[in-house]
Amino acid sequence: MHLIPIKYHNLNYPIHIKPTIKEVAGHFDIEFLSSDLKDDKFSLHTEYAAGLRRFDTDIIQSFPEIISSSTNRGVPRLWTSEKWAEEFAQFLIGLFDGKHPHIIEIHPPRINEFSNFSERYKIFYNELQSNNIKSKILIENRNGFGLSGIDNFQSFSKIIDDDKLNLKLILDFPQLFNFEEARTDIKKLEQVMNSIDGFKHNVDAFHIWGQVGGSSHRGDLNDYFNNNESMKNKFLKLLAKLFVNSDKDIYFIPEINAGHDNCTREKCLSNIVEDLEGVGFKFG
Ligand SMILES: [Zn+2]
Repeated sequence: MHLIPIKYHNLNYPIHIKPTIKEVAGHFDIEFLSSDLKDDKFSLHTEYAAGLRRFDTDIIQSFPEIISSSTNRGVPRLWTSEKWAEEFAQFLIGLFDGKHPHIIEIHPPRINEFSNFSERYKIFYNELQSNNIKSKILIENRNGFGLSGIDNFQSFSKIIDDDKLNLKLILDFPQLFNFEEARTDIKKLEQVMNSIDGFKHNVDAFHIWGQVGGSSHRGDLNDYFNNNESMKNKFLKLLAKLFVNSDKDIYFIPEINAGHDNCTREKCLSNIVEDLEGVGFKFG
């Protein structure tokens, strides 16, 4: 298998790695896809419902259900109804303007909406299909939402299999470990990593980033594990055991928004790449 590098914002990989896909923002305040996109392959990062949106673009005005389902303060809520799912697909189709993403990254609804998610997802998917959009669709775990912990991954992977959903999983490891309180507990870390085996056939992407204290998306894996070498090595060893010899490729997205004193963002990414290559992963 290979890790397929995705370019994240303007973050450069070490020179031996040449990403051919870039991540592009597609949240609800976006009206046009990035103008420097040209004919590049891209992964569209859709709305993730973490903060306020203005809902003031021309395009979003055509989608009353998306606007009215947001909270009073203006934070979007995701997958709230069948109508929402249909509007979400139409919003994206409008945004694409003929340029189809290689990947569409979506995010889970709140916990109480998750039981309806797969039915609503099918409506979304069918709407894209009927507009001839064949992107690969991936869903990411988010703390505090319907897809947060190992239990959620296990039961949702079974739904993907049983319902034959055209949807694959992104494993955001730091979010998963934070939710499972595995960041500083080696037994827990081992337990979490081992339980990925049961649903790894549905995992098509990794998100990896560092965290300095409580400041997330910052630094490398040394920072994430508070410079605890044995925690970091345990993670890398178990990750390699799960995926290095698998027969499919996995997308890799380094969500590093900041470095710190003696580690620039580029250096942090190069450290993570080195860690992964050190346990046998190859970038391709
Ligand atoms: Zn992520």
